[in-house]
Amino acid sequence: MSLDGTYDDGNIFAKILRGEMPAARVFEDEHVYAFMDVFPQGRGHTLVIPKHSTARNFLDEEPERVAVLFQGVQRVAKAVRAAFNPDGLTIMQFNGAPAGQTVYHLHVHIIPRWEGVPLGRHAGGAMADMDELKDLAEQIAAKIS
Ligand code: 5GP
Repeated sequence: MSLDGTYDDGNIFAKILRGEMPAARVFEDEHVYAFMDVFPQGRGHTLVIPKHSTARNFLDEEPERVAVLFQGVQRVAKAVRAAFNPDGLTIMQFNGAPAGQTVYHLHVHIIPRWEGVPLGRHAGGAMADMDELKDLAEQIAAKIS
């Protein structure tokens, strides 16, 4: 998938937003939905997506929606930090397959990092246990302010 193209509402995140696929929900407000990545690159790997968007990637998004998306990302990132007390946080976002993008609904990754622990494989590691993800999601949700 290149940078250009048409939004496909059959993508997995659109299905999660419509409630057609399960997800370990962390948080949602009027603008964003946050949930646990099912192939986490680290413990607590969380995704934040815009709820009312047909942007496949960052370049597609309406400029005024970028601000509310990143306000949501910051809010969730602070909660991830408060929940797990990591040494660092990787916040990343991929655009187009050559850049590593695999799901074509705009999203931002928040990954807690610990000294000496390398980042796990992107979108290709082991699938996490849903009960474990729900527990992590609850820990983050409890710290949303
Ligand atoms: P991208 O590669 O597009 O930047 O990120 C897509 C992310 O979605 C990957 O980190 C991948 O692990 C995650 N992912 C893929 N399928 C699912 C799914 O069905 N549920 C959840 N929660 N995450 C998914």
